[in-house]
Amino acid sequence: MKILIWVSVVCVLLLGCKTTATSSKATEKETVDYFADNGFGNAVAVVQHPAGIYHKGVTYVCYQGPLEDPYVASYHHETGEWKGPFKAGTSEMGKEANRRKHIDNHGKPSILIDDADYIHITFGGHGGMAKHGDNPLGNHHYGRNMHVVSKNPLDISSWETLDNIPPFGTYNQFVKMDNGDLFLFYRHGAHRSDWVYQKSTDNGRTFGQPVSFLKHQRRTDMPAVDSWYPWIRKGNGDELLVVYDYHICSDSNPLGTEAGHIPKRYNIYYMVFNTKTGSWKNVKGESLKIPLTRTMAEANTLVATTEGNWTFQGVVDIDSVGNPHIGMTVGEEIKGSRRSAKKQMQYYKWNGTQWLHAATSGLPIGNGDIEVLSPENIRFYIAEETEDKEGEVCRWDSVDGGKTFKRSKVYLSRAAAHFAISSRIENAHPNARLIVAERKSDTDYRKMYLLGDNGPIGRNSTDAQVLSVKEIKSR
Ligand code: ZN
Repeated sequence: MKILIWVSVVCVLLLGCKTTATSSKATEKETVDYFADNGFGNAVAVVQHPAGIYHKGVTYVCYQGPLEDPYVASYHHETGEWKGPFKAGTSEMGKEANRRKHIDNHGKPSILIDDADYIHITFGGHGGMAKHGDNPLGNHHYGRNMHVVSKNPLDISSWETLDNIPPFGTYNQFVKMDNGDLFLFYRHGAHRSDWVYQKSTDNGRTFGQPVSFLKHQRRTDMPAVDSWYPWIRKGNGDELLVVYDYHICSDSNPLGTEAGHIPKRYNIYYMVFNTKTGSWKNVKGESLKIPLTRTMAEANTLVATTEGNWTFQGVVDIDSVGNPHIGMTVGEEIKGSRRSAKKQMQYYKWNGTQWLHAATSGLPIGNGDIEVLSPENIRFYIAEETEDKEGEVCRWDSVDGGKTFKRSKVYLSRAAAHFAISSRIENAHPNARLIVAERKSDTDYRKMYLLGDNGPIGRNSTDAQVLSVKEIKSR
């Protein structure tokens, strides 16, 4: 009897092992390195941020999906469980098949988790439209800026709209301070609009009025309007760091229309916002009066000029002694062309008395984000554009205070593709630092990857393939 039982147990164990082995092999075979295939257009970018947050063991990510609607997915680092993607709201953009610019791309989502663990997404705006009423701080273009919140704490499966922000915003940037105050930064309209912030002290249920901090203004010396592209990151304590470049918004341009507008962007500027006192200062600690005009910005906040070159997308971080370090992509200006030359990541830092520029730092062509670990140790995460058409997402490290950078890790590499990259995920787990979208020339749909120090976090192929048959046919 004992022997019989023993034999049965062994059989069960053996069978169990066999079953386990088979299924794990099958799972392995079906694992893909992306987490969703329904990214759309420029599904993520550095400017709309954060696009991801690590919170209580889970990384939450958002991106632009089909019809330019916002999608949210999550990954549990302990259990390896993915959830979503779930559609978090419906954009007013992306629904008109015959629109000249068929993907607008300005309404990509930004994400924030409030102190009560509700998840907030803002999306869908590119200046609003005439039907939304007068824009008191700028001009219209398209879309409607929107704000949705999860119906339940830390649950990405159901959402409700909060009608509590103006429709005119675009390029949303969300920050939560240590005391739980929320700040939403955005441009209050199309190119000829102020940049503003709104503050919420009740977990995003209501916001104060928009406060302008960068002013759009008609120039008197030429037919053009001053315009700006700031990017905001949390600094020390109550401070927010603001890096920005200048856009000269000309009345006439060679292509004649807004769609043919030329992205003339120049120079690098920096300032600091103290969210507790509401005061603004430059790198030397001198007070600034907002909204800043071009004259004030040039006199008090200039990091560097970029004559003969165009800029695109600044990023900033601060070191342990409080000095800012800046990344800005810079490339040759191409007159009369909508196309701009490939831009190389350039590195600037404040050493306590002056701005230094490592012109030959070795950083590649491409864009991405900066992370400052110490005054000597600086990292860039960059989606590179290489000559041989191979797209790579890499980490570049400096150990000499930014004089030189070396490529230290390749997170992802693909032939005949390149990548759209997000800002760094907020409070990131080392295994999930960035979100990237794989851009291929033959489709508007994108495979979405969650990347960290071990490369992409994989997922069961059945769950990662979420595009509907209708969407696949329209490729
Ligand atoms: Zn413009």
